[in-house]
Amino acid sequence: MTNKQEIIDRFLSYVKIDTQSDENSQTTPSTQKQWDLANKLRDELSEMGLQDVSIDENAYVMASLPSNVEHEVPVIGFVAHFDTTPDFSGTNVNPQIIEDYDGKDIVLNKEKNIILSPDYFEDLLQYKGQTLITTDGNTLLGADDKAGITEIMEALKYLLQNPEIKHGKIRVCFTPDEEIGRGAHKFDVEKFGAEWAYTMDGSQIGELEYENFNAAGAVVTVSGKSVHPGYAKDKMINSMYIATDFINSLPRLETPEHTEGRQGFFHLNGIEGDVEETKLHYIIRDHDREHFEARKKMIQDLAGEICSQYQRECVQVEVTDQYFNMKEKVEPVMHIVDIAEEAMQELGILPDIKPIRGGTDGAQLSFMGLPCPNIFAGGHNFHGKYEYVPVESMQKAVEVIVKIAELTAEKYQQ
Ligand SMILES: [Zn+2]
Repeated sequence: MTNKQEIIDRFLSYVKIDTQSDENSQTTPSTQKQWDLANKLRDELSEMGLQDVSIDENAYVMASLPSNVEHEVPVIGFVAHFDTTPDFSGTNVNPQIIEDYDGKDIVLNKEKNIILSPDYFEDLLQYKGQTLITTDGNTLLGADDKAGITEIMEALKYLLQNPEIKHGKIRVCFTPDEEIGRGAHKFDVEKFGAEWAYTMDGSQIGELEYENFNAAGAVVTVSGKSVHPGYAKDKMINSMYIATDFINSLPRLETPEHTEGRQGFFHLNGIEGDVEETKLHYIIRDHDREHFEARKKMIQDLAGEICSQYQRECVQVEVTDQYFNMKEKVEPVMHIVDIAEEAMQELGILPDIKPIRGGTDGAQLSFMGLPCPNIFAGGHNFHGKYEYVPVESMQKAVEVIVKIAELTAEKYQQ
């Protein structure tokens, strides 16, 4: 069995290092402080006796655990990110450990009256009797994704200590800047050299994901004509009114607040405007590739319609693809999902396979040639002060990694 205390100690040592990323920075990693954890991970991998331990100029840390079987087994990989979101402070994380959780309110911060309550976060009740790690109410926890890193490290350690467990070659990679959408950008897929991989970056126990949104951004620029309001009759064209027409012409119910599951949407997430010019910032999301393309076309067509309505070239749309649904790349190699599902079932974990209403690094990696579903890391309430992780879920994640390695070797035995 995996050692609970060692998981806790390792996790705490990682979350105490501030690794917040910064979307306004153009460097990789986006913040210098991410090197602190990246270098530590490289050192720990070397000390543990992993092979090919490397850190590149962008702080991607890689290592291999060699195969311990004679037969050919595909190289598989596990990936996690060490940065935390820019949305919430990750400075001076002071984790609280709640043993044998009693199912009641957890006071995170008495002074500020910050309470983690099952009345609001009902998922907590699943973890009665377990050990929870929470924040002190001042910062996020960083289980996203230092739980994933901890689990990969502990699984490697476990496999090294238990050579009777047979496995092929395993590659691991820890990346910077996932939270600002750049975790995969400088990932050297060729150097990694795995046939497929898993990101350990999901939320609650059982999660297994291989579908995500197709995503695009659209900037709609509406031009008007500014004239002194006192002398404006038949001369002024107010771009903000045209922009309002544009907004109201898109389906009002196809928005994030009215959709779920595999339903796509248009999301207006910003407006800047004056009489002369208005800019609308949209994001477009859909799991289905055809629907996604139709949405992009719809927004372009609408611009044309409004132009002809006003009889001038007053609306321009610039659509930029952001990422695509990894399902397209994973379905042809569906055994990689099946192995993960089987691993969970053998460990008594109920697999919870559902489409992600977002993207993952794994989606980008899948399109870079490394099919990469996402597996739970165990945490809840990411990106804020209510973030917590049950240690037992982390323990299970370690076991899932070990089991996937074992099952993969088994399946390729002739
Ligand atoms: Zn994450």
